[in-house]
Amino acid sequence: MQTTRNNKSRSTGRNRNQRPQARPAKNKKVSKLDPNLLIKAAQPSGQEGFQSKTPFAGLPIHEKVLQNVAAKGYENMTYIQEKSIQGLLEGRDMLGISNTGSGKTAAFLIPIIEHALKDSKFEALIVTPTRELALQIEEEFKSLTQGLPLRSATFIGGTNINTDVKTLSRKLNVIVGTPGRLLDLANRRLLKFQTIQTLVLDEFDRMLDMGFVNDVKKIIAGMTQRKQTMLFSATLEPSQKNLIDGILRNPIQVKVNNGGTSSENVDQDIIRVPEGKDKFGMLTDLFQEEGLDKVIIFTETKRLADRVSKKLNQNGIRSGLIHGNKSQNNRNRTIDEFKNGDTRVLVATDVAARGIDVSDVTHVINYQLPMTMDSYIHRIGRTGRAGKTGVAITFVD
Ligand code: AMP
Repeated sequence: MQTTRNNKSRSTGRNRNQRPQARPAKNKKVSKLDPNLLIKAAQPSGQEGFQSKTPFAGLPIHEKVLQNVAAKGYENMTYIQEKSIQGLLEGRDMLGISNTGSGKTAAFLIPIIEHALKDSKFEALIVTPTRELALQIEEEFKSLTQGLPLRSATFIGGTNINTDVKTLSRKLNVIVGTPGRLLDLANRRLLKFQTIQTLVLDEFDRMLDMGFVNDVKKIIAGMTQRKQTMLFSATLEPSQKNLIDGILRNPIQVKVNNGGTSSENVDQDIIRVPEGKDKFGMLTDLFQEEGLDKVIIFTETKRLADRVSKKLNQNGIRSGLIHGNKSQNNRNRTIDEFKNGDTRVLVATDVAARGIDVSDVTHVINYQLPMTMDSYIHRIGRTGRAGKTGVAITFVD
């Protein structure tokens, strides 16, 4: 197996000087990514950049929240939490440029919880580009508010809207959702943006991208009482600067990574697939090595994801599968099985690339070269989280 970087963690033969030769692909869509950029040793900064030396205990927040934070095993704040929670408690806006895995969810949830505890009329809206991210944020909210009289709900596509109608008949403190469903509910006059004070756009680079920006603008326009806005993303698109400036007022700005390159906690390498060689065989060979305990494999197409997952299972490597054609229930179950360790591998298309927080993902494998650097960064951000070192391997045909 030809890999390019010398890496003791894997036993396959490597040759530092070997550079991949891009072969013209037969498919119409050809990735323009330069594989040479995907070879990089992890430079873990250890706790630096992740965990600060400041304990949660000193924060002026509800005792029960402090207990819940401790119960989650958080002792010190992460860097982004240390830099933002105090200002957010005071009502400041925020622009957070941070990798997922930096602790940003608790950074915005803790101040929101505090506002909600102090003001019974308080409502916050958290908008995300993916259903999974929305569900995950609500899960974190629920664990941080255990034993407190606060109510949240998630509104996402692919679920029965009639259930949402029932949920919305009760007062909610925190609403999480994807733009399409949120607007649908607003258009039916079931959800009122005008009473919501706080807005969070998570993965805002994508929320302000062509696909979502009009929906987001409508949501913002509807929030006539908006007092606080927080934007979080791993990358900052220069083209979105004007838009961002128009949304935020004197924000706290925290940058945990440099906003452009992929995680420094990830050991990145490529595997060249020689012409005529059985690529799937090369993939299963990898699983003979030690340490591939929790692996996400990304493919470009749903069809290939189906095939890879099926073949892995046939080869005795238990895998789950998520992509856009799977129902929300099915996706949730599959992610739970992966989280619990019932399955060792999750095969996914980009649907899973953003936001999913499964702790201890040891490896991200790109079975094909991702189409863009942005997609690559978000994928490999599934590993090397919470101060740990992960491995990203990309197959190059
Ligand atoms: P996020 O960036 O919100 O996706 O969080 C990444 C991971 O860090 C999640 O698994 C959190 O549970 C974890 N986490 C968040 N805050 C802390 C903290 N202060 N100490 C330890 N782990 C944390």
